[in-house]
Amino acid sequence: MPSHSLDRFLTENIEDLKSKGLYNVIDPLQGPNGPTILIGGKTLINLSSNNYLGLATDERLVNASIEAAKTYGAGAGAVRTINGTLDLHLELERKLAEFKHTEAVIAYQSGFNCNMAAISAVMDKNDAILSDELNHASIIDGCRLSKAKIIRFKHSDMEDLRAQAKAAKESGLYNKIMVITDGVFSMDGDIAKLPEIVQIAEEFDLITYVDDAHGSGVLGGGAGTVKHFGLSDRIDFQIGTLSKAIGVVGGYVAGSKKLIEWLKLRSRPFLFSTALPPAPVAACIASVDILMNDKTLIEKLWDNGNYLKDGLKRIGFDIGNSETPITPCIIGDEVKTQAFSKRLYEEGVYAKAIVFPTVPKGTGRIRNMPTAAHSKEMLDQVLAVYERVGKELGII
Ligand code: PMP
Repeated sequence: MPSHSLDRFLTENIEDLKSKGLYNVIDPLQGPNGPTILIGGKTLINLSSNNYLGLATDERLVNASIEAAKTYGAGAGAVRTINGTLDLHLELERKLAEFKHTEAVIAYQSGFNCNMAAISAVMDKNDAILSDELNHASIIDGCRLSKAKIIRFKHSDMEDLRAQAKAAKESGLYNKIMVITDGVFSMDGDIAKLPEIVQIAEEFDLITYVDDAHGSGVLGGGAGTVKHFGLSDRIDFQIGTLSKAIGVVGGYVAGSKKLIEWLKLRSRPFLFSTALPPAPVAACIASVDILMNDKTLIEKLWDNGNYLKDGLKRIGFDIGNSETPITPCIIGDEVKTQAFSKRLYEEGVYAKAIVFPTVPKGTGRIRNMPTAAHSKEMLDQVLAVYERVGKELGII
């Protein structure tokens, strides 16, 4: 039995979430996370995965996983710095460095973990971090962990960033100052203004840190947002995840040899948490190989993204300022957003409601994630359902 104080805390807070439409229900999949998914015996068109290129279910990745598990076993057996580093980890890191056009790469167990690791390995209480107000939760937590002073700037507002950078620099209070941004913002699909950020960073000697979880495999021919803007040699940290376009699991930092050397010496999840298992590492290698040699999946992703966006706009949905395949339908009210998502489900479309705390209060939305694996027929079906349910609920 939990203590009385814990029980009271849990009951009050869970009831509070339910009453505000913020209670998240988890639906287990009964098969692969592909363009359609099976939940509770029902097949639904899936618009909620980050499997941008459909690689999570690609046979080549699955076969690479099986082979690696047979050769190396199920687990890596130790942390990277003791004897958990397999030649496979190094091969993946070499391939990723080539893919990202950087000198070196360090791989972590997840993208979340990677932000916790990388920020706190470099920044400390004598430093300051300028952080976009819409940055991902793992960046926020990584910043907090570092104990550096966190200075939030208004979302993609370059005047605000410049003013805050100038004030921080001129205060003389900080040893180092870092600017951190998502490359592609995951809830709105807009792209960070990296050319301006780099200019400001160079003017005020800021360390630059871009979390490109949603840009890698999507922009810059797959190499990401930094490459998209031609800034590969002007960004210190490029973070990527292996769980979205790459289709598997893991995270990484791409940067200079010296930076990666330091992270291998001092970033805590690398030192104190068991290495990625062989099977996903081999699958990631296969995935990066595919991405470096074949751009057709990326083209298909953009084609599908534009098709869905144009369709939703035509029907009358507010799709915000997305510049990438991530396509939000902004509804606002949390309860209405949940109701819309529920009706989509009943009509055979799985598109999860995204509400506070994932997005600010009053900006509830359905976040649609078209992928390269969807067919045009599926997207037409989605558009028909959206139009019908949108009218029914008075959203359009
Ligand atoms: N950074 C960003 C911007 C993300 O969107 C995510 C995934 N939600 C992560 C990091 C964490 O990545 P992972 O799922 O690999 O832990």
